[in-house]
Amino acid sequence: MTLDSAKLKILNYPHPALRQTAQPVPELTDQVRQVALRMLQLMHEAPGVGLAAPQVGINWCLFVSNHTQDPEDDLVFINPTLSEPSKETVEFEEGCLSLPEIRGAVRRPAGITIEALNLKGKPFKMTSDELPARIWQHEYDHLKGVLIIDLMGMLDRRANREALDELEREAANQ
Ligand code: ZN
Repeated sequence: MTLDSAKLKILNYPHPALRQTAQPVPELTDQVRQVALRMLQLMHEAPGVGLAAPQVGINWCLFVSNHTQDPEDDLVFINPTLSEPSKETVEFEEGCLSLPEIRGAVRRPAGITIEALNLKGKPFKMTSDELPARIWQHEYDHLKGVLIIDLMGMLDRRANREALDELEREAANQ
């Protein structure tokens, strides 16, 4: 696959790439590193706290996050797995860079552990019961083709109906 990472951009709902199941990254090549760095750039420009590869049209199990906007907190998760979800769940209003103007409350386990490879191919493990736990679960969902509109309650879905229709119209007109 040849791929110009500079040309990547964030795709909006209902782009079909957002519904694909991502595949494990087989090898940590320069191309993978370039894509991850470009994704960090796009996430900061947006600005957002996380971005998954399917959101830029690449079906790799890879996402980036930064819960503070401080570049020192940039994280890249390659082939991540989640484990040890807390029994306690919390509802929190989420947005998504692929769903501009749309927000809704999503219930998730409050705490979670994530294991992944970093950009150097080194395995690492983190646990959080704060905003990072929320981001990791949201981004991990993207790797399965799941979006917040699938998870929010009926009232939030209804409140966002017009914004969703508008995104669908925009896509149809492209
Ligand atoms: Zn998202």
